[in-house]
Amino acid sequence: MRVKVLGSAAGGGFPQWNCGCSNCIRLRAGKLHGNPRTQAQIAFSVDSKAWFLLNASPDLRTQILATTELAPPQGPRRSPITGVFLTSADVDSAMGLLHLREFTPFRIFATPAVQQILREENTMFRVLDRATPPVQWLGFSTQPQGRSPVAVDSLGNASFGFSAVPLGGTYPDYVNDALRGKLSAEEAVVGLLVEHGEKRLFFAPSLSGKNLEWRKLAESSDLVFLDGTFWSDDELIQATGSGKTARAIGHLPLSGADGLLQQFSGAGRGRRVLIHINNTNPILDEESPEYRQVREMGWEIAQDGMEFVL
Ligand SMILES: [Zn+2]
Repeated sequence: MRVKVLGSAAGGGFPQWNCGCSNCIRLRAGKLHGNPRTQAQIAFSVDSKAWFLLNASPDLRTQILATTELAPPQGPRRSPITGVFLTSADVDSAMGLLHLREFTPFRIFATPAVQQILREENTMFRVLDRATPPVQWLGFSTQPQGRSPVAVDSLGNASFGFSAVPLGGTYPDYVNDALRGKLSAEEAVVGLLVEHGEKRLFFAPSLSGKNLEWRKLAESSDLVFLDGTFWSDDELIQATGSGKTARAIGHLPLSGADGLLQQFSGAGRGRRVLIHINNTNPILDEESPEYRQVREMGWEIAQDGMEFVL
């Protein structure tokens, strides 16, 4: 399995258009030892021909253009992009679907609740129905027995398995209260496990910390991408003078008692990569003590363009 990091930042990217935090200011001025980043996006393939996306970021068009593997072959309009797995209905996870609206069929895998939000409450996504055949929406369960095989092509070649685990997060702000009340909390935010042969990839860019089921899956995986959004719980408030805590918006901070570093340190057999890193996070500065600390603890920090082979 090949896994490519097309984008590694949280919503807004790095730098963020309206942000005057220390990281964004220093990056714009060329004074930060670190790299700009587009919004979090992963692509993987088990045969190097058909590629699947984990989420569809607001930067997806630019990310596809920067990735030679995702370029279409010569001839009629088509794409190596065969399917998209969504972890939530967040703008950061789903907006990029609108970049894929040019009449090419592919598959979208999402929980029934995420599908309802995107397809019925946000009718703009119906633009995807114009493809011939229309883009195919497929549901998946968050139950432990919900593991499904995915055939990469219509002949069933090169299949892989995937399953989803609820992460205890909430539905996005834009979902109205009446609908929110009707939807199952388990289907709001999920982590995804992809299995091919003996190899396992786990992806959870939003960890609320309210559900710990993900840890077993992450520990048994060869490569895990986990929530690196915030270093500290009050980081947004410190950087912007307002806003909510990390935990209040569904992200376990990295540092502190019960932070992700403490919860998942030295655990598991695989490579541990932090992704979905907010522009305020000090780990983006490679000269910071926080950067040194996570690296010394064995974590990798996702950057656009990284590739892993499992
Ligand atoms: Zn910033």
